Amino acid sequence: MKITDIQVFELTIPFSRGVNKKSPSNFLKADALDFCLVKIETDQGIIGWGDAFAYHCRRPVAEAINHMIKPHLIGKSPLNVQQINFELQKTLHLFGRYGITMFAISAIDIALWDILAKFSNLPLYNILGSSGGKKMEAYASLWRYEDVDSVKDRCEHAKNLGYKHIKLHEIHTSEVEAARNTLGEDISIMVDTNCPWTKDKARQMLNSWEDYNLYWVEEPINPPEDFESLSNLRSESLIPIAAGENACTSFEFKKMFDAEAVDYAQPSVTKVGGITEFKKIYSLADNYGVQVMPHSPYFGPGFLATLHLSQSMPNPGLLERFFIDFEAYLYPEKTFNPKDGFFEISDHIGLGIDPDLDVIKDYRVK
Ligand SMILES: [Mg+2]
Repeated sequence: MKITDIQVFELTIPFSRGVNKKSPSNFLKADALDFCLVKIETDQGIIGWGDAFAYHCRRPVAEAINHMIKPHLIGKSPLNVQQINFELQKTLHLFGRYGITMFAISAIDIALWDILAKFSNLPLYNILGSSGGKKMEAYASLWRYEDVDSVKDRCEHAKNLGYKHIKLHEIHTSEVEAARNTLGEDISIMVDTNCPWTKDKARQMLNSWEDYNLYWVEEPINPPEDFESLSNLRSESLIPIAAGENACTSFEFKKMFDAEAVDYAQPSVTKVGGITEFKKIYSLADNYGVQVMPHSPYFGPGFLATLHLSQSMPNPGLLERFFIDFEAYLYPEKTFNPKDGFFEISDHIGLGIDPDLDVIKDYRVK
């Protein structure tokens, strides 16, 4: 079997955050999210789908796939998934081991695993070493509203939908306090801060949040790769630390684990180098005794890939459901909506579902 073509589809799909209040932050004013899908075709008619991290970087990722990767792959066997991943990383190392290049490699890798599983006539989780059936608990991952009433509204909504774990993306105490007061003590609360603080400011903030019984605080320090400061903060704080969505490759995660920087590691399959690299990361995390909590605020093939990977992990942890509602979905909406707090997974071959071609047509950006 040979790869005959690779097509890239850039999409932008409008969404609702459920409340009218918009964060004052520019980045968070978005009303639509970007997608960068890849479709790999073969001479045997098997088609694989993948996607790269593309929020606010859709075009550069698409260009990287088309110009830096595609020429290396036409004519090759798509079944050499791990070899292709190795060769792409080696060939493209000078363009950066974090960022656009690795996002692009991730998309290719996910699509190749989809092809391998379809060729084997099995669901991907079988190929990854799982019989399926593992419970996958979801958490609601709220937008950043920087508004107490919006936080209360969304927390109540998530609780009513059956979520037992809710993550805020807030950086002020007033919103964290409002969430705890709204949810009571039976719902766990995580706070993702997205790298806002110096190590001293982070220590001050975490000290002041100790009464809120937080399940974890995520990425409190800038820059994200300052694992030494993160490790110091972790040893000084009672609140568990999560990080990893800004790390790529198992080598970066090894540095994080060697520094004892995190309680929870958060690899992102559309960033780290795809399924191949994600597998290495969770094996490594297992060796270090670190729990993986996959970063998966996604609605494309990367979300499905995360579900399949979770089936094969020793303990799948909690899985992220970005708490926004899209105008249209690439897969049946129930794919993203946990039932009684747990995600379900298709037992069809490959990733289980192919994206809706009408949605691709309607939301494609040329
Ligand atoms: Mg995060």
